Amino acid sequence: MKILTLNCGSSSLKYSFFDAAEERTLARGIVERITIGGSFITHRVPAPEDERPAGTSGGAVGVKARAGLTTRRMYECPTHKEAIDLVLATLTKGDGAVIADLAEISAVAHRVVHGGEALTGSVMVDDAVVDALRERISLAPLHNPPNIAGVEAARALLPDVPQVAVFDTAFHYTMPDYAYVYPLPYEWYCDLGLRRYGFHGTSHLYVSRRAAALLGREPADVNLITLHIGNGASACAVRGGVSVDTSMGLTPLEGLVMGTRSGDIDPAISFQVTKDLPLAPQEVYTILNRRSGVLGLTGKYADRRDVLAHIKPDATSADDDAEEPGSAYRCKLALEVECYRLKKYVGAYAAALGRVDALVFTAGVGENSPEMRAWTLRGLEGLGIIVDEEKNADAPRGEEVDVAAEASATRVFVIPTDEERVFIEDTVALLDGTYAPPDRFVYSFQKPDYTPRLD
Ligand code: ADP
Repeated sequence: MKILTLNCGSSSLKYSFFDAAEERTLARGIVERITIGGSFITHRVPAPEDERPAGTSGGAVGVKARAGLTTRRMYECPTHKEAIDLVLATLTKGDGAVIADLAEISAVAHRVVHGGEALTGSVMVDDAVVDALRERISLAPLHNPPNIAGVEAARALLPDVPQVAVFDTAFHYTMPDYAYVYPLPYEWYCDLGLRRYGFHGTSHLYVSRRAAALLGREPADVNLITLHIGNGASACAVRGGVSVDTSMGLTPLEGLVMGTRSGDIDPAISFQVTKDLPLAPQEVYTILNRRSGVLGLTGKYADRRDVLAHIKPDATSADDDAEEPGSAYRCKLALEVECYRLKKYVGAYAAALGRVDALVFTAGVGENSPEMRAWTLRGLEGLGIIVDEEKNADAPRGEEVDVAAEASATRVFVIPTDEERVFIEDTVALLDGTYAPPDRFVYSFQKPDYTPRLD
């Protein structure tokens, strides 16, 4: 069974092609600059551990791709349809081909950001599901339109192939009402669906099950705080293996400081700036999503690697260039604000959970930045969270590690996330008729003998 996963953003499309029988990624890649001109595809065929000659490792006869090959090609994609067509052509033709015929694709799994209250688990896509997604556009105006475009294009291009939707919100459907209802007029929740939904669900699900396995316990027996810190960032409180609170809300804007999103702010600010500056509400919304967070604070950088590279520990607001975009002071301030707020969420979720068996760092920043992990957890010894500074600094990239000190009551794991693994297992289970929502489904990666993929 070969499964194509598609993750459609507004101007990009990430994909992977997985052979479920061989447990192997055949190809993965990204199409960039969709709808904006100058589109191109970067396609990679990972090297399997045991390099076998091309065409003998799950691909059909005549398939050309060599292990470890990366190809790049320009191709105009005015819509997501051309982008998906380009992916299909690249999988079947030319140097990067890994299958001879599109008939080898057993299913397509789509990442969909917002499932709303009704879609609480992965589903086979039919007309009713597409209609339901359209109805939710107002809840996720930046995210669901490209997701729907991807679903519709894939259905048109591969009409006989089953399509599955996997929702970012699904893992959080177990949140209790007191965690998801906003303290606003209750009718806004009933009539407009304005409540907290949470996102990054497949990532929180994956790392929380891996953390339970690393603790040697069943998911139902563990309490965890998972921190997905990438360009977007969210925290999740997991009690007994299920999500009971998360930092993102109605949209991914709420919660932690992110690369370009503000996270929590006084809602009055959105109103106030339209009085003080010539800004329409839609422009304020765009600024909160695209020009705030780390980018807003530094004025120049959203990528934490750039910010870390420009920090000077002794920089102050009295420095001559302090106000300049990208100054050492503004970079230091951005990361201090980000880590301080991360720490506050850890404290809040420790209080919500009562007992925390492990804390998990994942995604681009969480997996790769020992500095950010250390700054986030510094001073939490009183809560029983103690980092071993050496283990943290030396944590090998791409591996699951415990960076907590021996004396720490709470383990501190760094776990590379694998959202595609969830897409694939949900899709296989839906095709087999064995699927159940996340709180009842047993994934391969929660079992003690599971070996995480490295590709
Ligand atoms: P997303 O999927 O949200 O785009 P990722 O999980 O891929 O994000 O994370 C991307 C972010 O990870 C980058 O913007 C960068 O800030 C951060 N990042 C990656 N490597 C490092 C590193 N070594 N140190 C600090 N931050 C890093």
